[in-house]
Amino acid sequence: SALNVSRFLREHIRTVPDWPSTGVQFRDITPLLQDPQVFRVLADAFVHRYMAPGLRPDVVAGLDARGFIIGAVVAYALNVGFVPIRKKGKLPFTTVEETYELEYGNASVEIHTDAVTRGQRVLLIDDLVATGGTMLAGIKLLERLGAEVTECAAIVDLPELGGSGKVRASGHSLFTLVDFE
Ligand code: AMP
Repeated sequence: SALNVSRFLREHIRTVPDWPSTGVQFRDITPLLQDPQVFRVLADAFVHRYMAPGLRPDVVAGLDARGFIIGAVVAYALNVGFVPIRKKGKLPFTTVEETYELEYGNASVEIHTDAVTRGQRVLLIDDLVATGGTMLAGIKLLERLGAEVTECAAIVDLPELGGSGKVRASGHSLFTLVDFE
C-alpha cells in the first residue's frame, strides 16, 4: 500500500544534522539509491502512478541534480524522453532562465529552448521540496516554453517549510512519497 511504501522508504532516508549549514536537517536520499531493492521500490512508486493513462506524461523533466537520477529512471520505464533543468551555466545550447530567492541570495536554473514543445505534457521531478523555490522555477521554465506541467513529484516533502503548499497554491498538482516534519 502507499502507506507501507512511504514507511519503507522513510527508513532508508538518512538525516544529516547541520549540513550544509547549522540548523539544516539534510535528508540524504543516497541510501535509497544504493540498495537495489529499495531503489526499485522507489522507482516503481513513481512508475506505477505515471503509467496510468490519465497521468502518463509525454516527457519527464528532472531538476539538477538528484532529480536527474530519479527522473531518468522513471522516464526510461515509461518509455518517454528525459530533459534536464540545470543550474545556471551548465547547458551548452540556447536557454531560458529563471532566478529565484534563497535564504541567502539567489539561484538560477535553465532549460534548453528546444527541450520541450508547445502543448507537451510534462512530469517535473526532484528529490525534495523545501521552500518550493526550485520546483516553482522549473514550472515557470516549462510553461514559458508552452509545455503543460501535468504534475510535479518529489520523493520527500518538508511541509513545514511551506513549499508544497506554494506549489499547490499555484494551481499545480504535487505528488510526494515521504513527509518529514
Ligand atoms: P527548495 O527550492 O527550497 O524547495 O529546495 C529544494 C532543493 O534543495 C532540492 O533540489 C533539494 O535537493 C535541496 N534541498 C533543500 N533542502 C533540503 C534538505 N533539508 N535536505 C535535502 N535536500 C534539500
